[in-house]
Amino acid sequence: MKKFDRLNIGAHISIGGGLDKSVLRAWRIGCETIQIFTKSNAQWRARKLSKDEIEKFKRELQKFQIYPVVVHSSYLINLCAPDKEILKKSRDSFIQELKRCESIGAICLVFHPGAHLGKGEDYGIKKTAESLNLIHERTPNFKTLTVIELTAGQGTVIGYKFEQIRKLIDLIEDKNRIGVCVDTCHIFSAGYDIRTEKGCELVFKEFDEMIGIDKIKVFHLNDSKNELNSRVDRHFHIGKGKIGKTAFHFIMQNPEFKDIPKIIETPKGYNDELDIMNLSILRKLAKT
Ligand SMILES: [Zn+2]
Ligand SMILES: [Zn+2]
Repeated sequence: MKKFDRLNIGAHISIGGGLDKSVLRAWRIGCETIQIFTKSNAQWRARKLSKDEIEKFKRELQKFQIYPVVVHSSYLINLCAPDKEILKKSRDSFIQELKRCESIGAICLVFHPGAHLGKGEDYGIKKTAESLNLIHERTPNFKTLTVIELTAGQGTVIGYKFEQIRKLIDLIEDKNRIGVCVDTCHIFSAGYDIRTEKGCELVFKEFDEMIGIDKIKVFHLNDSKNELNSRVDRHFHIGKGKIGKTAFHFIMQNPEFKDIPKIIETPKGYNDELDIMNLSILRKLAKT
């Protein structure tokens, strides 16, 4: 196998048939890194991962040189849920997911900071911070980072402005355990104009001043089907949506972002063709 310069690009891959099955799937379409769910993302219940399955998964990763592993948490989790029962379920479930991540050697667990459901943004930020502090306390010395994904700001979700992420991180006791995931579709939908090179420079400068560029642990590279500031989360193929190619060129070419995993979560077709297309566009943008 010829060794190319690593661009750290990858895709969200299904674990259907077992965790280990995802690796060959990822390699076949040209991934260098991988993002997975470790359980069904629409159910609270999680199947136990056997030692054997974990070992097989790690062997496959080694064999195909796929790293690092990024995990996305279940969509059901709401770490600022006003309902006590849902909040408890969310926290317990997050701890379980973090344990799974640690056992498979994932570098991070990406999650959405939650929806306050009418209680207000300050409430949402405080509650999410409280949840994260509790989660960190119950999982001492874990290596897997908890990584906050910037959201599109749909409905009552929090975390769609850099200021909110700053406020949230300020309330976290162990800041070394926290990172941020920049989803290009989400930030664009939330009003950050990354359509031009100048726009990208300004947005990432603001990010650096507000949060710190070193906090970016994952990129989700998705174009957007909807307009700037639409507050609607609809992913689209790289360079073919309302964002356009420039933002992806900017990220792929930036030496500061070189080692950060860049995951596509673009629409998939009936086979892998569309993932292959999107990854090859990124590869091209990195080189030209
Ligand atoms: Zn996400
Ligand atoms: Zn995303």
